[in-house]
Amino acid sequence: MYLESLRLDGRTAFVTGGGQGIGLCCAEALSEAGARVTIADNNLARLDEARGALEAKGYQVATQVLDVTDSAAVTVAADAMLEREGKIDVLVNNAGIARSDTAAQDVADEHWLNVLDVNLNGTFWCARAFGRHMLAAEEGSIVNIGSMSGFVVNRPQPQSYYNASKAAVHQLTRSLAAEWARRGIRVNAVAPTYISTPLNAFADTSSEMYRRWIDGTPQGRLGTPEEVASVVLFLASDAASLMTGSIVLADGGYTCW
Ligand code: NAD
Repeated sequence: MYLESLRLDGRTAFVTGGGQGIGLCCAEALSEAGARVTIADNNLARLDEARGALEAKGYQVATQVLDVTDSAAVTVAADAMLEREGKIDVLVNNAGIARSDTAAQDVADEHWLNVLDVNLNGTFWCARAFGRHMLAAEEGSIVNIGSMSGFVVNRPQPQSYYNASKAAVHQLTRSLAAEWARRGIRVNAVAPTYISTPLNAFADTSSEMYRRWIDGTPQGRLGTPEEVASVVLFLASDAASLMTGSIVLADGGYTCW
């Protein structure tokens, strides 16, 4: 009964930013659980590569070129998925950018707006468009990828825009959860620590910054995208049926100190 509740057979899932990193692992985890997955990304080459990698593991996925900052395109994508799949059960709002390492006093308008546009606006456009179909069906599960940066100020790198965007994603998660809880929809978020993905490639593993990340983590290591995907799978599934509005830390203990 318990393991069965993690299965997603017959369900459909849409994963934004699924071309690489955490999103790609989420697509794999949801596929392994039995869901029919669509991966969306604004980078066509990454999408093609991701589909090939998943196919090589035996999973067929649909792909969708989508820039999550384009609200009209997001609506079209949600409608197209409903048309193609007949229903939408799971949305993983994973697309995000960091552009870390710029001091607040040096942040250009474009930099600030770009990070908020992808991380916050993109999450809302997708939740709204896919959420409308879930509301009509009176069921659905949305999992947003937040960050421990929504709880703590990362160091040593300055990234005020990123931290603010992820704190906003967490509060958006709680707001949507409260609004939609009695209409059959759960909305949760995962708040990861530093994860080994291209997003963190700006930090050389031999750098002082990287050493401070490790030293600041009780587990003494970065996380893997698979370790985030397993939490996403749990939250997406009926195993988390009592959970909504939760921001689940997967941070190797980082926020304990
Ligand atoms: P990544 O850079 O490896 O992958 C992000 C993917 O999103 C890429 O394929 C990219 O093409 C896509 N993307 C970027 N902008 C997009 C847009 N406007 N529309 C559609 N797709 C877009 O990043 P990742 O490390 O896998 O991060 C995924 C999520 O996890 C992000 O929301 C990130 O903020 C969050 N996160 C990452 C870490 C980490 O340390 N890597 C930690 C906490 C949270």
